[in-house]
Amino acid sequence: MKLLLSEEGVFPVTRNDKGELLKNLPNTGMSVSGTVQGEGRLTGTPSLFIRLAGCNLRCIWNKGNGEYSICDTPHSVFGKVNSKPFSVDSIISVIRNNIGNIRHIVITGGEPVLQAKQLTLLCRRIKENFDVHLTLETNGTIFDDDLSGFIDLFSISPKLSATNPDREKLRKFGLTETDVHRNHNSRRINLSSLQSYIDFAGMNGKSFQLKFVVTELQDVDEIRTDILNKLTGWTRDDIFIMPLGATKEELRQFTPVALEMAIANGWRFSPRMHIDLFNENTGV
Ligand code: SF4
Repeated sequence: MKLLLSEEGVFPVTRNDKGELLKNLPNTGMSVSGTVQGEGRLTGTPSLFIRLAGCNLRCIWNKGNGEYSICDTPHSVFGKVNSKPFSVDSIISVIRNNIGNIRHIVITGGEPVLQAKQLTLLCRRIKENFDVHLTLETNGTIFDDDLSGFIDLFSISPKLSATNPDREKLRKFGLTETDVHRNHNSRRINLSSLQSYIDFAGMNGKSFQLKFVVTELQDVDEIRTDILNKLTGWTRDDIFIMPLGATKEELRQFTPVALEMAIANGWRFSPRMHIDLFNENTGV
């Protein structure tokens, strides 16, 4: 059974599945495998990442002034997706050859839960082979009971209406409208799935965080009215406000809004530390 990973696969790594040293250093520029988690509760924690390809959403944010910002992992979602099938065995070997003293693995995407069946098998094998904490980064639109049993932290990032990929945005990026674009707005918030994550975490002694990417102070109304007021079982400490920021320039533009919103509501501010540390490189 194979998983479709994006071009980074397991990253950042210095050795392949056979244990051979790779010719090039990882994009972090360091000679060690691994990086740090850049967002949310575990910011700064040494981690290995596994990026799965494909997503059921197609986010393009409004930045104001008629400018737009596309999903920060477009190579795993938009247009020609650079993906490769990996067997569970080969992923386990890459982890074994690169894990060192790292005790934290992050499953990210795209939307990883689209491959729930294969991913459940991978997570089971990871837990059998390594003493590690597993984070699942998801847009929260799909919940899977079996997969969730192996996850320690659910890092859920529900998408606001500013991400809707309308025709004007698609035109700007030279993209042709498909059903996935047309369905984005009706799919982006699945309250029943979000509640399942929160309830599952509560009942099974696991953690969760709801991360909202914002661009303007008015986003708070949508976060409260359309999402948080319709969910139960969360506290202020579970809510993270993050500036839009696939680039340093975007981070500079949107950090003041995110900071102000977080402080005014008693929520937490999340940095995007990997942008500060490694610029806009992928695989970091
Ligand atoms: S949900 Fe995440 S991975 Fe999917 S399109 Fe939106 S930003 Fe990209």
